[in-house]
Amino acid sequence: MEKLNELTIKQAQDDLKKKEFSSVELTEACLKRIKERNKDINAFITVCEESALEEAKKADEMLGQGIGGPLTGIPFCAKDSISTKNVRSTAAAKILDNYIPPFNATVIEKIRKQGGVLLGKNNCDTFGHGASNENSMYGSVRNPHDLDKVSGGSSGGTAASVADNMCVYGIAEDTGGSIRQPASFCGIAGLRPSYGRNSRYGIMPMASSLDTVGPMAKTVEDTAIIMEQIAGQDSLDATTVSGAVPEYTKILNKSIKGLRVGVPKEYYEAPGMDGEVLEITKLKIKKLEELGCEIVDVSLPHTKYAIAVYYIVVPCEVSSNLGRLDGVRYGVRVETDNLFDLYARSRAQGFHEEVKRRILIGTYALSAGYYDAYYKKAQQVRTLIRQDFDKVFKDVDVLIAPASPFPAFTIGEKVADPMQMYLADVFTTPAGLAGIPGLSVPGGKTKSGLPVGIQIMGPMMGEGVLLNIGSNIC
Ligand code: GLN
Repeated sequence: MEKLNELTIKQAQDDLKKKEFSSVELTEACLKRIKERNKDINAFITVCEESALEEAKKADEMLGQGIGGPLTGIPFCAKDSISTKNVRSTAAAKILDNYIPPFNATVIEKIRKQGGVLLGKNNCDTFGHGASNENSMYGSVRNPHDLDKVSGGSSGGTAASVADNMCVYGIAEDTGGSIRQPASFCGIAGLRPSYGRNSRYGIMPMASSLDTVGPMAKTVEDTAIIMEQIAGQDSLDATTVSGAVPEYTKILNKSIKGLRVGVPKEYYEAPGMDGEVLEITKLKIKKLEELGCEIVDVSLPHTKYAIAVYYIVVPCEVSSNLGRLDGVRYGVRVETDNLFDLYARSRAQGFHEEVKRRILIGTYALSAGYYDAYYKKAQQVRTLIRQDFDKVFKDVDVLIAPASPFPAFTIGEKVADPMQMYLADVFTTPAGLAGIPGLSVPGGKTKSGLPVGIQIMGPMMGEGVLLNIGSNIC
């Protein structure tokens, strides 16, 4: 038998029911792996050993009584920008270093209520600002496939802990690629759901009009299992959509014959595109063709503006959302003899450089003299980007493209040049701006052994078809 910590949700579920092992044993196996590996990988900011074992004990009782749900007794971890009751949640920012939320984010509440076991909180780029996890104030996360490479970002800690079997699955956040890109770099499945599919309540806001929360898992099937449990309308998030959540697990491995798959040319012509990534993506397109899909060349002409638009809209929302962190109510407080200095010095010490950069850009772009030239213009172009997708989804069912133009890069390679780092988001920001779902699935590996992720994008609320296609190609 595989080691317990290597199991998928599906395998663990079945064996827990059959009493092959207990949730406590499964949890201990993950904690052991964390102890062995986290010192090298740095995927966790907080490990909650004691409470995890207690939760596992309770889960075993639930399993004994035949109550709970599909995630009962299964150890998971969550990105540190997601609020977890009684467990420190820093968002990898010193300004929240000692913050212990008194409540769970809705998605976490749904899992913990049915006896999910929270192992710990994952390192990430601070407040989600980054594409390599090097913007954490708690050190960068290393890629388990090659410790000299980045894990991707911003949910790199979650991706690395899933890929390295330190947990069974993870919950993370995606604004402009933070689930899909690290999933791709670490060789796991990651779903950015449609905006409004899952509740954002309790997710520390980055850019509220783009933020989503979703699963990172070892298989597409596990991703579907998690989605069924966490999706749905929430009275605490007015942007969630009404209606029943589809039974995603029942849509898997169904025939995809006749589906029209769009190949957006802009995603294959990006500067700096890696040859092996291109090759691996083309192999998957061929596989789709063999499975009976119709492959259609399409164009999303405004894609070229996505990075520029994203890096105006997002900093604007960041500058507003982070205004609440002033050293008074939570986290690091620098005591001074006047209030203004307390704000200024607490923010100076508590925020990462990248956060400060975004606050400055956002504040500037929203200022009276520049609002029309930057923020308003960016929102107008954002509409054009969304309309590109609306139009193309009248013709095709899904789109296929790489999740990133290159595999995981070397730690330190891009960190000195924020523009280079921003360009890493070229294939993931458009879906974020449009609000549509995107699933990254493992596509294969480069000759040097680095994973390459394939991104499948679909229309609003199209998670089902993405998961079905994903289950067919990997
Ligand atoms: N790399 C993107 C950024 O830095 C992604 C962020 C995210 O999705 N949270 O903004």
